[in-house]
Formats: sequence, C-alpha cells, structure tokens
Amino acid sequence: MENIFLKIINREIPAHIVYEDDLVIAFLDIMPVNKGHTLVVPKKHFVNILDGDPDILAHMIKTAQKIAQAQVKKLGAEGFNLVVNNGVAGGQEVMHAHFHVVPRYTNDNAYPKPSHVECSKEELAEIKEKLAKVMS
Ligand code: AMP
Repeated sequence: MENIFLKIINREIPAHIVYEDDLVIAFLDIMPVNKGHTLVVPKKHFVNILDGDPDILAHMIKTAQKIAQAQVKKLGAEGFNLVVNNGVAGGQEVMHAHFHVVPRYTNDNAYPKPSHVECSKEELAEIKEKLAKVMS
C-alpha cells in the first residue's frame, strides 16, 4: 500500500517541513484543523503507538512539545491538542505512525465534545482489574 509519509521523508513529494532530525520529521498537515496543524512522524516505519519503539515514541513526544511551544510563541496559539489516531476504529487513515499537534484558540470549536457511555461502579472496578493485571 502507498505510504504517503515515506514519500515525504524520501523527498519524493513536497511538504512544508518544520523540523527534521535522524529519527523524526515534522511537517504541516495538508488539511489543517487550524492553521499551523503539524504532524510529527517517525522516519522508521511503524503503524502506530501499539507497535512503536518506546524510545522513538519518546522522541516524538519531545518533538511535539517543541512544535507546540513554537505554535504558542509564533502563531499565538492559546492551547493545543496532541492527537494520535490509532487503528481504523481510532480514526487512523495513514498507516504510518504520526502525532497531530493542533494549535487551539478560545472558542474555535475545532473539535466537537466527545460522547460518553454509562459505566457503573462495578464495571469500573472490573475494567480496572483487567487492565491493572497486565500493567506491571
Ligand atoms: P490520520 O487520520 O490520523 O491518519 O491523519 C492523517 C493526516 O495526514 C490527515 O490529517 C491528512 O490531512 C494528513 N495528510 C495526508 N496526506 C498528507 C500530505 N501529503 N501532506 C501533509 N499531510 C497529509
């Protein structure tokens, strides 16, 4: 399957590159949620957080922090969202890992409020047990 981000990394197609080092590249999203919306992408292919090397993921977070700081300093962003869509069910369309760094402004209504489900105390306890068991 065509990997559009690898094409950007390999300079086969153009992008507005904001930052690059040995491990990551960051460029402007072509369909921004807000102006300055930037993607942080690992140069080594992996699909998403589930199969990513933790050291590279940590470097992606550090890069996202720098991008967000630049958005605040240079674009006047008042906040930002760090969005990571994982898997088709999670809204991921490009199957090469990436973090979205989206500058936000008061009342810009860029994202709708998430929906919520009912969850009883018993269900909370049961779910906590399942997750906590495999965490250590
Ligand atoms: P996701 O839904 O998390 O997989 O997001 C993929 C993102 O990649 C979308 O926000 C697209 O607008 C963005 N995108 C796709 N092609 C390009 C491109 N050639 N240059 C920059 N951003 C792109």
